[in-house]
Amino acid sequence: MTQATIEYASELMKIPDAREMVAEARDICDAVPAVYEELADTTVPVNVKHVVIDRIFPLGVRNFLKLLCDNGDFGLFYEIIDEYREQMKKPREVEAYGELIYVTPPTDEQMIGIRDFLGKEFGNKDIELTMKQDESLKSGFIIRVGSKEFDWSEAGRIRQLEERLSRAVTEGRSRSEDNIISILRSTIEDFELAAADKEIGVANWVGDGIVNVDGIDHANYGEIVIFDCGVKGMVQDVRRDEIGVVLFGRDTEIHEGSRVVRTGKMAGVPVGDEYLGRVVDALGAPLDGGAEISTDTYRPIEMRAPGIVDRKSVSVPMETGILSIDSMFPIGRGQRELIIGDRQTGKTSIAMDTILNQKGKDTICIYVAIGQKSSTVAKLVGTLKNAGAMDYTIVVSATASDPAPLQYIAPYSGTAMAEYFMYQGKDVLIVYDDLSKHAVAYRAISLLLERSPGREAYPGDVFYLHSRLLERSARLSPEAGGGSITALPIIETQAGDVSAYIPTNVISITDGQIYLESQLFFSGQRPAVNVGLSVSRVGGAAQRKAMKKAAGSVRIDLAQYREMEVFTQFSSDLDDATKKQLEHGRSLMELLKQPLGHPFSMADQVIILVGANAHLFSDIPTAEIQDFRAKLLKYFHDEKNEIISRLESYLDLPDDLRKSIETECENFKSGYLEDKDA
Ligand code: ATP
Ligand code: MG
Repeated sequence: MTQATIEYASELMKIPDAREMVAEARDICDAVPAVYEELADTTVPVNVKHVVIDRIFPLGVRNFLKLLCDNGDFGLFYEIIDEYREQMKKPREVEAYGELIYVTPPTDEQMIGIRDFLGKEFGNKDIELTMKQDESLKSGFIIRVGSKEFDWSEAGRIRQLEERLSRAVTEGRSRSEDNIISILRSTIEDFELAAADKEIGVANWVGDGIVNVDGIDHANYGEIVIFDCGVKGMVQDVRRDEIGVVLFGRDTEIHEGSRVVRTGKMAGVPVGDEYLGRVVDALGAPLDGGAEISTDTYRPIEMRAPGIVDRKSVSVPMETGILSIDSMFPIGRGQRELIIGDRQTGKTSIAMDTILNQKGKDTICIYVAIGQKSSTVAKLVGTLKNAGAMDYTIVVSATASDPAPLQYIAPYSGTAMAEYFMYQGKDVLIVYDDLSKHAVAYRAISLLLERSPGREAYPGDVFYLHSRLLERSARLSPEAGGGSITALPIIETQAGDVSAYIPTNVISITDGQIYLESQLFFSGQRPAVNVGLSVSRVGGAAQRKAMKKAAGSVRIDLAQYREMEVFTQFSSDLDDATKKQLEHGRSLMELLKQPLGHPFSMADQVIILVGANAHLFSDIPTAEIQDFRAKLLKYFHDEKNEIISRLESYLDLPDDLRKSIETECENFKSGYLEDKDA
């Protein structure tokens, strides 16, 4: 057996389904030895031999036989066939399995073409194709091998053309070309029917919104994949031979063997001015029953936070309109201030009042509801609408009934929308209500993905979950755009325990916290801000000078009052100084009470604080203080407007202005007391 014979035999092996054709060729040569002799005769011209081969031999082996003639090796024919049979007897290893889907079965010639193509695509691997008929293709074929799919079907091409056209339309729109028709025409003319090459996999395990997918080899972390039934998912876990996908929709239609297609796109949301005033889900689809939101801008939900160079320190206040916060725990634009407290302590209310107070202040507000009741969100949207605050607000909602992955991405989607505005130089306020439920959703996903649980069963990267989110809040330097994102994350504690895992994490990431206490809330002190435990680490730099001067010693006075209150609880005879201090403290506490939806302007707050520091309210009966405060402010607005406008334009509190406020306060008080006596 010569080397040449062995090589020829292995060439024959590569020809698909050659066995019968080889047998036929041999039969021909056996039956008509003259043919064999003519072909083996090296003196006969090659083109004559080719004609003979084309006339009588089966199609699949013609090229091979011609090759033998060209090389003058036809004499080896019988030897080659013997060797071929030997090789055929050895167990063949199929290297890959594939599937050929067709409407009408491919002809022999088409089969050769397909084999050729697969040979090129997969480096001459032995691929065993199973055949399957599917009328829905209309015509053409689809070939699937491993994780690759080649689509030559009519249905697939129509889909391709549709995609191209819609892309052309969006591009045309973004370039604001009005001649859409010409763009469409050129797209259609340039459309080349290429076989769509997609990477596909199959689901091998489904449960609770998580799918394990086999066969996709190159998916990226965070990439979107689409299932047969149209449900989208995001790659969350890349393992050695499978990927873990979290679903953004229901998993009821996905079963073992469902097909999954890579999109190559990272998870993102559409963003734009069109979103203002809308209520949307975590993927940016409207939930308010309004029109489709058409925008061409798309932002990935995960983005790197601005770097150090791009940032500027906090220096402009973000006024909440809530006296106890603006006076003692001022928040600046670009700051992250945590609102923390037990359930039903007014956390959401503080965030809502802050949003309402941004009216006319050129700030865009984004409220992200995570894992809340739909009714709560609906009520909140109603409040915003009634107050006319929806015009500058976006509500992103992933309620408790939404799948955990949607709850998990909601704050990131909200932040992507916020960043769109920030990089245009606008100021944005974003509320994450609340991050405890966000962590719980992430814990559910992680446990289902079989990541090892750590403290309180949260995965090890739960800290990173929140830090990478909150780091995206920033105040940009003018060179980087100059906008800002102020974040008000909310955390719910259990029985006031701030040392639980998630609260400590978020406390350490943020620039301060507003601590709300149930006890205060139930005793009627609302907003229930605990003055001792709350802090704002950077906001002081942003506080208006007038406010800073007016707030003066309120915090210390309150701290002293609380201590003294505990001491003097049981003693009845107190000295005058102590009594005075107690009364002052009590009046301060009363002044800090503020009903819902009644934000105070900066000027109002300064007037109240100046009055309070001058002990104006100390001798007013506690029950009357709120009424007195309202009347005092009305008096200033109606009769002393020049003071208010001076405060608003100066933003400072010179001594003479403070004096005149004090005098006016005294004047009003004497009038008030006289009226009461009369
Ligand atoms: P949850 O834990 O359910 O999210 P929460 O801490 O967000 O609750 P809110 O929903 O803001 O609390 O408020 C609880 C209740 O307290 C609401 O009914 C609200 O109207 C009331 N409330 C909150 N703040 C005040 C306030 N300053 N004055 C009067 N009522 C208030
Ligand atoms: Mg709430």
